[in-house]
Amino acid sequence: MDVQQLLRPNIRRLQPYACARDEFQGEASVYLDANENPYNAPYNRYPDPLQVRVKERVAEVKGVPAANIFLGNGSDEPIDLLYRAFCEPRVDNVVAIEPTYGMYRVCADINDVEYRPVLLGEDFGLSADGLLAAADGHTKLAWLCSPNNPTGNSLDPAEVERVLRLFPGIVVLDEAYIDFASSCSFLPRLAEFPRLVVLHTFSKAWGSAAIRLGMAFASEEIVGVLNKIKYPYNVNLLTQRQALQMLEQPGRTQQWVDTLLAERARLLEGLATVPCILRVHPTDANFVLVRVADADTVYRHLTDRGIIVRNRSRVALCQGGLRITVGTPEEDDALLAALRAW
Ligand SMILES: *Cc1c(COP(=O)(O)O)cnc(C)c1O
Repeated sequence: MDVQQLLRPNIRRLQPYACARDEFQGEASVYLDANENPYNAPYNRYPDPLQVRVKERVAEVKGVPAANIFLGNGSDEPIDLLYRAFCEPRVDNVVAIEPTYGMYRVCADINDVEYRPVLLGEDFGLSADGLLAAADGHTKLAWLCSPNNPTGNSLDPAEVERVLRLFPGIVVLDEAYIDFASSCSFLPRLAEFPRLVVLHTFSKAWGSAAIRLGMAFASEEIVGVLNKIKYPYNVNLLTQRQALQMLEQPGRTQQWVDTLLAERARLLEGLATVPCILRVHPTDANFVLVRVADADTVYRHLTDRGIIVRNRSRVALCQGGLRITVGTPEEDDALLAALRAW
């Protein structure tokens, strides 16, 4: 199936909103076209709706043509837009690995789209056949997350590739934590897979969760669909400026990643010697899933000491699971000391 066939008919037919900046692009000396206030520069002007300068820099840093990049208000925006573009409410459905990031299900629920979770296997491994078996003629999206949240492991790239080859809909591969992973990104292989969408974010390695900037990489056709249905000015000026500033110094981001990877190794060693921890799962992300006998009491013990981790014990396959983000050495020492005192 090609992308046009997969689209909802109303989206295929949609005549998108044309803003003032769509009608005229380029440099002028007098702007009287958008009912803006002439005072209070630069905040008086609408921002670039297609974030051309930011995309040029993202293209360089990620090694992907700018035409294959969509920028949104966090990864949350492309996640929601993919449902709105491809999934007819109460008719279409999606498949997803389970457990995984909660937003895929929430956006399915908001859009009234059936969500079909497929349990991961041993050691949280992906079985392409299991995922494909849950799909039918109305399955438009397949959600994969690697490294996966909250389990921390990377999915087997051979299984991901099998999904890409055999699933006839859109495959979304969320690589929010790829900078921390030993496994490779699928980004260099984007051109091989016309129905692949890869998600990256400024919220983790780039240290910029506050500015809300998510990146979706896909074919020009899919990027065109997302651009057609997004809010016209979905990424504000402050975010575009700050992103450009971050992108000017990718070396600083790499230093944070290196620091966090070293600290992750130290944290894992420490956690392995904590008596109340039954298991430390291997991780390819900036967090680690551990198992304890009674997650609720350990969680409360930590919060009583001002240390907040994520209680994932009610998530499928994660009984007794606490998800712990890698912090500074001081923060992680405080965590280890509190856990040892349990
Ligand atoms: C943190 C995270 C994101 C980031 O979402 P933003 O909206 O970009 O902040 C995306 N996917 C996963 C799996 C995450 O854990």
